[in-house]
Amino acid sequence: MDLAFDRQHIWHPYTSTLSPLTCYPVKKAQGVLIELNDGQQLIDGMSSWWSAIHGYNHHVLNQAAKQQIDQMSHVMFGGLTHSPAIELSKKLLALVPDNLEHVFLADSGSVAVEVSLKMALQYWQAKGEPRSRFLALKQGYHGDTFGAMSVTDPDNSMHSLYKGFLPQHIFANSPQIGFWQTWDEADLTDFKQKLLDNHRQIAAVILEPIVQGAGGMRIYHPEFLKGVRQLCDEYGVLLILDEIATGFGRTGQLFACEHAGIKPDIMCLGKALTGGYMTLAATLTTKQIADTVCGGEAGCFMHGPTFMGNPLACAVACASLDLLATGSWQAQTAAIESQFADLLPQLTRHQQVKTVRWLGAIGVVETHHPVNMKEIQAHFVAQGVWIRPFGRLIYLMPPYISTPLHINQLIAAIDSALDNHQLFHSAIEV
Ligand SMILES: *Cc1c(COP(=O)(O)O)cnc(C)c1O
Repeated sequence: MDLAFDRQHIWHPYTSTLSPLTCYPVKKAQGVLIELNDGQQLIDGMSSWWSAIHGYNHHVLNQAAKQQIDQMSHVMFGGLTHSPAIELSKKLLALVPDNLEHVFLADSGSVAVEVSLKMALQYWQAKGEPRSRFLALKQGYHGDTFGAMSVTDPDNSMHSLYKGFLPQHIFANSPQIGFWQTWDEADLTDFKQKLLDNHRQIAAVILEPIVQGAGGMRIYHPEFLKGVRQLCDEYGVLLILDEIATGFGRTGQLFACEHAGIKPDIMCLGKALTGGYMTLAATLTTKQIADTVCGGEAGCFMHGPTFMGNPLACAVACASLDLLATGSWQAQTAAIESQFADLLPQLTRHQQVKTVRWLGAIGVVETHHPVNMKEIQAHFVAQGVWIRPFGRLIYLMPPYISTPLHINQLIAAIDSALDNHQLFHSAIEV
């Protein structure tokens, strides 16, 4: 594999052309194992960013892709339709909260978020009371495109780089009370105030239910989410739930909003939708919102990507949802959660550890100092695991099929890293 070419010419996520790091070359992946070019096998702790929930190279998903590819890989979705999209939408509507009735198939998570924002804007326009602002949470993350960036945490993200270009939205304090802690209404005070002060301008609240992912791996109390739903109803503001990371069982419920027993007005899905095989996302909404949008001046919803409803991706997504329908994800994520509950607290004996937290198949170790990415990555690979931390967060979101032995090995690798000061930047360097 021409790694020199890769370093010189290919952009990887958030990388510099001036000081490119060498990436590890992957030959293939099977089950929970990622095999490098030299034959070394790594236990995957990341599910390729929340997506490969059933593991890699799954025969059921492979079969679905092969069957579909012999029918057609793609046809345009304008004026044409096909059974992979119809079957997928049927399956999705049977799983999501029952107030959602319309499905927009988008190309990626970020696009699903853009679509959700556009739906909310068109909704208020059609009602003859245009609103142009969104209320989001600090430490939230919604994607890398402009609309998605504009509702992502303004302080810990790339906002300042695009000053003057990003629309200014409103940010409430992120929830401080953890999932397993005792609830206190005071956690909602700032959110409530922001809604009270601005509700006539606010088209929708957008947030990640229960788990704030890339913005800090924060796992918060269901009562916060319940309160948000009540306040949105009280002030007549739409609620968009970004379940792109949390959806499809990751938090131990099929969708994270189920922890709070609430329903969104608009829901974004992505990541695990195809079981990690290819990019596909969806934005779902109610009949009332869809019909209002389409009753407006425009007469339709103004979005339609070239690869909308891609049959190949839809066919694999159908197969992935069939695997979820067997229900085994429930026992699997519960087993992973109880292993996290047993083992993660033991890591707090390391001075480097600030706190640990977990929910479902998500486990997080927050350290005092940021990781030295290059060094810690090499350490993990030497330990035979694939874990990719960021900042002060070392976290696991393994495939649901991971065995107790796999989880033990992942946590043992983190354990061994925590005593090694060279794997962390000192406080002074930061
Ligand atoms: C990953 C993610 C996105 C963006 O999805 P992409 O497929 O990377 O565009 C949006 N929202 C949340 C919560 C995410 O975790």
